[in-house]
Amino acid sequence: MVIDLPDNIALDPIQDERLAVRQIQLSMLRIDAIDPEISGNKWFKLRYNIEAAVGAGADTLLTFGGAYSNHLAATAAAAQKAGLKAVGIVRGHHAQQQLTPTLRQCKSYGMALSFISRESYKEKRDEGFVAALKNEYPNAWIVPEGGDNEQGLLGAKDIAAYLPEDADIATVAIGTGTTFCGIANGLPEDKKIIGFPAIKDSDYLKGIFAEKIPPSVNWHLEQAYHFGGFAKKNEALITFVNQFYLQHHIPLDHVYTAKMMYGIFDMVQQEKLPEKTKMVAIHTGGLQGNTSIKNKLVFPVCG
Ligand SMILES: *Cc1c(COP(=O)(O)O)cnc(C)c1O
Repeated sequence: MVIDLPDNIALDPIQDERLAVRQIQLSMLRIDAIDPEISGNKWFKLRYNIEAAVGAGADTLLTFGGAYSNHLAATAAAAQKAGLKAVGIVRGHHAQQQLTPTLRQCKSYGMALSFISRESYKEKRDEGFVAALKNEYPNAWIVPEGGDNEQGLLGAKDIAAYLPEDADIATVAIGTGTTFCGIANGLPEDKKIIGFPAIKDSDYLKGIFAEKIPPSVNWHLEQAYHFGGFAKKNEALITFVNQFYLQHHIPLDHVYTAKMMYGIFDMVQQEKLPEKTKMVAIHTGGLQGNTSIKNKLVFPVCG
């Protein structure tokens, strides 16, 4: 099975006075728009996993996530599309009491959900735990949390080919960092990549990234824009998302892309980016994550 790369990824210029005064050109690479159900970077991270699963004769994709996980929803949709079954191992028994919109979406795509305790969830990469899963689901291809495996990394690398030739800096939001490292691996020599971790204590990522990215690549993390931690938000962030939509007609998700875009504008205002820089911000999608704040948003929320 071969899944074709998309050939219709738009590059939307962002016109803004704050950029113009520094003569900075900013555009957004809209990989969020590849597929209405399998958003952005998740599509790329799953692509080779699906090919490998089918190649290995598996009939099921099995993966892991929390009750709001974009990766879980994307895997459920991608499996359905590929004619595979899907199993989601969900963190926390509490999540079973009342299903979040994300988990309801997973079920609607036919994913079977299995809830485990937070303690067991921490062991999800342990040999014994994986062996037990393989025993229980012998025909499953196991995709780690966030699509963070060899196939995920290789899939994300393909995103680099969509960067405009004249861009100096590419930016991307970071969860596990699989997307960031993948793109960094495919990054043309004349470009730099800046990652915006959506999590609070992100220092540990640097060591991991140093092993996954060749030393010749120009990469850097901006760690100040986590807004208190993963999926945490405040009024300033939500106001930013709404204003960005009203001005540019591009919806941002509050967990990842909003924090990155907020960070870019903050860096521009603090004159941390050189004048005349050409920047491309990668819109990784994740819009289903806005369901939990849909009453506060000026645009309709869909998967
Ligand atoms: C999952 C996700 C990310 C993070 O991807 P990683 O490869 O785990 O770093 C970034 N942006 C959006 C919108 C996501 O859904």
